[in-house]
Amino acid sequence: MINIVLFGKPGAGKGTQAEFLKGKYNLTHLSTGDIFRFNIKNETELGKLAKTYMDKGDLVPDEVTIQMLQSEVDNNPDSAGFLFDGFPRTLAQAGALDRFLESKGQQITATVALEADDEILVQRLLERGKTSGRPDDQDEEKIRNRYDEYNEKTAPLMDYYKEQEKFYAVDGIGSIADITERLSTVIDNL
Ligand code: AMP
Repeated sequence: MINIVLFGKPGAGKGTQAEFLKGKYNLTHLSTGDIFRFNIKNETELGKLAKTYMDKGDLVPDEVTIQMLQSEVDNNPDSAGFLFDGFPRTLAQAGALDRFLESKGQQITATVALEADDEILVQRLLERGKTSGRPDDQDEEKIRNRYDEYNEKTAPLMDYYKEQEKFYAVDGIGSIADITERLSTVIDNL
């Protein structure tokens, strides 16, 4: 069983790459952003709560996010492995994920980061915002806030996984196929 964390700043291409990798490695793709957006669309209580944070570009509180992620994992008992996309985003989430997987006799195999320059990504998100319909992609101030959240709360996870010798990074700029290839090289060598 392999469990991969796909890591990177907003707009780095995690979702795009996950679409290719999940089929190639037979992994269950869990994107916390997608699950929140699904709940918003269906107007669930969770969706209503998450929306108040997401619309501003703030992270949704750990407690809510961790619980949601754990129930998604529990809902896929026959999975051959997971591809975590957009989770964990805080040290509390990373610790909770490690303990949760350990309780199931599993662990994170590797964290693979897609690296790209902030300015390129901000432009990419503004471009995506024209068609994605996502309020958090349409306003530069909200986008900048997402980067502040990333730098403050998510960036420390790189050291967390480096200490566990589970951190890998690839250049996230290039064609979609080239980047899939770079990620595959890392995963094939695990
Ligand atoms: P994403 O689709 O991954 O860019 O996530 C969109 C938004 O969903 C983020 O800006 C957060 O508001 C929320 N979100 C997604 N994943 C998490 C997470 N692991 N922890 C907290 N908030 C999250």
